[in-house]
Amino acid sequence: MSRYWNSSTRQLSPYVPGEQPKDQVYIKLNTNENPYPPSPHVLQAIRGKVGEALRLYPDPESTELRDRIAEKYGLKREEVFVGNGSDEVLALAFKAFFEPQAPVLFADITYSFYKVYVQFYDLTAKIIPLKDSFQIDIDAYCKEKNGGIVIANPNAPTGIEVPLENIERIIQSNPDSVVLVDEAYVDFGAQTTVPLVRKYPNVLVVQTLSKSRSLAGLRVGFAFGHPELIEGLNRVKNSFNSYPIDRLAQAGAVAAIEDEAYFRETTEKVIRTRTWVVEELQRMGFEVLPSKTNFVFVRFAGCSAAELQRRLKEEGILVRHFAQPRIDEYLRITIGTDDEMKILLDRLQRIIQAVG
Ligand code: PMP
Repeated sequence: MSRYWNSSTRQLSPYVPGEQPKDQVYIKLNTNENPYPPSPHVLQAIRGKVGEALRLYPDPESTELRDRIAEKYGLKREEVFVGNGSDEVLALAFKAFFEPQAPVLFADITYSFYKVYVQFYDLTAKIIPLKDSFQIDIDAYCKEKNGGIVIANPNAPTGIEVPLENIERIIQSNPDSVVLVDEAYVDFGAQTTVPLVRKYPNVLVVQTLSKSRSLAGLRVGFAFGHPELIEGLNRVKNSFNSYPIDRLAQAGAVAAIEDEAYFRETTEKVIRTRTWVVEELQRMGFEVLPSKTNFVFVRFAGCSAAELQRRLKEEGILVRHFAQPRIDEYLRITIGTDDEMKILLDRLQRIIQAVG
């Protein structure tokens, strides 16, 4: 450990992303990337911007992109914020809105970056356990005094959706806190909270182009909220980096938002694949949690999840295992193409026969 690190740096325990090994070509079902390429218009738009203009700074306000996103959701530009992936948008929101005087509330099983931001900004957290069914305990969020609330909807890594009326109850019960709804996976069949943005000034909805738009590599995320919340995010952003979205990312993101037909086609394909994969896994004896995302969270009574993950990796397939209380027996499997999923199921069948 460097003697030059300050005491705060020493205490950080950063987020650990899913592995991206380079030793061979794997079927990658471990980081919830989209198996389909981005819209061809995205590539065209980016190519069109690779040129001499790169010597100029990008638009710090991402104006055109915010306009396109706002139009799509029936909002105004002032109600939309854009950042470098939703991870950055979430980080800026924690900084802008969460109060250190009372704990930030989120679930015990959810996106593990939330607790990293809590540390990073010297906040405290009160962890609200999911119910036995892995549903969110809505009542707990309605009665705990708090400095802010984060709900991933659908939740990760469970894939389970929180019904919109429950999100609304949480927002209504906490008029003095900002309720952050992380909708990274919402486009794969869940209901968005965006319509509540005009109704309540204390809700911020965060989305990303990484999953349903196949653009994890471009790093574009956004937030929807009351203009005062968006103003708060801009203040924090401009105190840190006024140019989070580069010229190429802005152009590519605009093209992705505009190509609604391609977006529908690829998300519907992922949902169709998920449907038959769930049926097959259940037929093989797996327990599968109800997923509204581009991944499934599964358990097999006859073999530990860590062992299944290890054996799948030997077969050239990566899936995610979280060595964490309550979910140690589960695997998170990203929905790939039909062909990839056929190979996965074939290998799983062989493995469970071998261990059983
Ligand atoms: N929220 C959740 C729940 C996620 O799973 C992820 C992806 N790891 C993110 C946010 C961040 O996605 P990105 O930064 O690529 O937009």
